[in-house]
Amino acid sequence: MTAASRSADPMTAASIAGLAPDHVRRIAPYVPGKPVEELARELGLDPAGIVKLASNENPRGPGPRVRAAIAAAVDEIARYPDGNGFALKAALAARLGVGPAQIVLGNGSNDVLELVSLAFLEPGDAAVYAQHAFAVYPLATQARGAAGIEVPARDFGHDLAAMRAAVTPRTRVVFVANPNNPTGTWHPPAEVETFVASMPADVVVVLDEAYNEYLEPADRAPSIDWVARYPNLVVTRTFSKAFGLAALRVGYGVMAAAVADILNRVRQPFNVNTLAQVAAVAALDDEDYVDESRALNRAGLAQLAAGFDALGLAHLPTQANFVLVDVGDAARVNRALLRQGVIVRPVGNYGLPTWLRVTVGLAQENARLLAALKGALAS
Ligand SMILES: *Cc1c(COP(=O)(O)O)cnc(C)c1O
Repeated sequence: MTAASRSADPMTAASIAGLAPDHVRRIAPYVPGKPVEELARELGLDPAGIVKLASNENPRGPGPRVRAAIAAAVDEIARYPDGNGFALKAALAARLGVGPAQIVLGNGSNDVLELVSLAFLEPGDAAVYAQHAFAVYPLATQARGAAGIEVPARDFGHDLAAMRAAVTPRTRVVFVANPNNPTGTWHPPAEVETFVASMPADVVVVLDEAYNEYLEPADRAPSIDWVARYPNLVVTRTFSKAFGLAALRVGYGVMAAAVADILNRVRQPFNVNTLAQVAAVAALDDEDYVDESRALNRAGLAQLAAGFDALGLAHLPTQANFVLVDVGDAARVNRALLRQGVIVRPVGNYGLPTWLRVTVGLAQENARLLAALKGALAS
């Protein structure tokens, strides 16, 4: 086609979209938790009366040190952030006992997952992940034109032996979420290390520990120490969940320095903003906030479990700040909850059409959910 005949083609918006590669056009968009303001607009409700237990956020809001750090940094926002995240990497490195060059900062840990797929996957490659695992793994895989291998779950959790068996010479990346979202399932450290050790050296293992801080310290894997032994291991964590910074978008990965160097080449130069960086440093310093959040979560999980039991609803054991509950016709129950101003997360898109995922809220929010659920089941 000549340049002249190309430009003479009448292109419609649809035909422009059609120019995107097949693997991009086939992507099913990520479905986020419904924002409070959106439900308020749709149903004419007062946003202040809406309870959102849909996105595994910390219900306590940011801690006082985070608020102060953000206020003190506001004058800086006309300038570009530190693209190298010096202070945050230094704080993380000191805390974790690794070198700053082993840390890659992300616009949320989601960004780090994307960087792994961008750096290591291309069409013809494959990535392995579990059924009912975090939705970003198939999205990040498909966006690169790589094949996603979904390994059937076992008791709703990862079947690590089957995942190992699903690795082929085409496999470049394996994603493991521990604990997993949306199921809350969890593997003890020894099982995870056996799995990591069993992987071929040329497969990148992403161990996604977004909910690590909700585990009791004794249950946490020494996964950062494993990075020294397994150069193909990438451990990701986030400030979005227990640290209470979801809106700021900041997470990180820990890995061999050579792997970090590769991820940094495909990273946007200023992917983590200034307020996120200063808030994350302040949040890391506030161990009490995380400890209190973990204690509140444990109490909230007990409250929800007792409430679900009283309603005769099955629910899964969970190690995170959310719980899956089997409500039968989840789409109907979800609509009835929304009408009562309670937002939870349907998980039909995760292959769990009878379940709802409920994030642990403050005690009064959990009570609102349980009361609304009772009403919804009766309606
Ligand atoms: C929430 C979550 C993340 C990432 O969240 P970010 O806000 O992007 O850090 C990653 N993995 C799992 C399993 C999650 O649930």
